[in-house]
Amino acid sequence: MQFKDVIGQSAIKQRLINSVRENHVSHAQLFLGPTGSGKLPLALAYAQYILCPNRTETDSCGICPTCQKMQKLAHPDLHFVVPTATTKKVKSNPESDLFMEEWREYVIQNQGYVDTSSWYTFLDVENKQGYMSVRDAASLLRKLSMKSYEGEYKIAIIWMAEKMRVDTANKLLKLLEEPPEKTVFLLIAEDAEELLATIKSRTVLVKIPAIVPMAIETALQIRLGCTAQQAHNAAMISEGNWLNACHSVQESEDRKYFFTTFQQWMRLCFRAAYSEIIDFSANIKTLGREKQKELLDYGLRIIRNALLFNNNLAEIVMLPDDEKKFNANFAPFVNAANLAQIADLFEEAIRQIERNGNAQIIFTDVSFKMVGLLKKK
Ligand SMILES: [Zn+2]
Repeated sequence: MQFKDVIGQSAIKQRLINSVRENHVSHAQLFLGPTGSGKLPLALAYAQYILCPNRTETDSCGICPTCQKMQKLAHPDLHFVVPTATTKKVKSNPESDLFMEEWREYVIQNQGYVDTSSWYTFLDVENKQGYMSVRDAASLLRKLSMKSYEGEYKIAIIWMAEKMRVDTANKLLKLLEEPPEKTVFLLIAEDAEELLATIKSRTVLVKIPAIVPMAIETALQIRLGCTAQQAHNAAMISEGNWLNACHSVQESEDRKYFFTTFQQWMRLCFRAAYSEIIDFSANIKTLGREKQKELLDYGLRIIRNALLFNNNLAEIVMLPDDEKKFNANFAPFVNAANLAQIADLFEEAIRQIERNGNAQIIFTDVSFKMVGLLKKK
């Protein structure tokens, strides 16, 4: 990773660059900051900058053999310690070295913007909590005691250092106190309370703030192809967390999909367009069970909103304008005569889908019943 791939954080980038240029790279640094602020991308870009023989005033070169290996997270002088747990593949004694292939794939896939919960999901550890065992510290000790491959720095990135067990930390402390020559430890953590005081006292603190909204806004447009408005909205509610921003964009995409699909569906029911309804249901069948349930759930929400609209409570419905307009137009068709039946129909359909029912038959059936129900006064 290069500094140019890190979202925002210009002051921190400059500080890290200066440390290399002025030959003041502290041997143990603690990158402490909130989730989604880019601590790992900063550490990776910094590590690459330290090792790149062709670095410029602002970044690593990105093309030399060192940079290429760093970009694949496969440089022999770059070491990782990350929290792990037992999985289907590793049934006992988990440690970082056993998961390096997965870790590289996961980090590269997410461009370095990662968190523990998505890492555990990626590893499929089920409900277990990840940790760093004393085996991790022992392995690191072994690797760092060897000469570096390219005669330059060795860099150890310890991701989520708060997940270290006490015995792990104690072993690591020895390394931090008497570090092998030309070794840089970059510890990454989110929760200062959980970190051992001894670890904190032996590292130089690099406080990483949340990302400024402006940087998130720009990155959403460039990386995710968001419109200016969409990027602005997502950045505003992201709390400077890139993962939150991506999540809310994804959510609004999904909502847009459910909105247009539900709108299309209800129009077919209004028109009693039976053959089109059958095509529509065949299409829905390809969606997958979760999405089918979400669509029905979205419908239930519209029906509940109709109740609010019909009771002059439209102002408490918080929706984008186009959705609100559809809700307002749909509301008059929901009334005392059909409300409970429509809700029951949707809820029953959700249950049937959960029981693996045929989605095409279920949606066709719901649609044909809706044709009648929407006419009830
Ligand atoms: Zn380079």
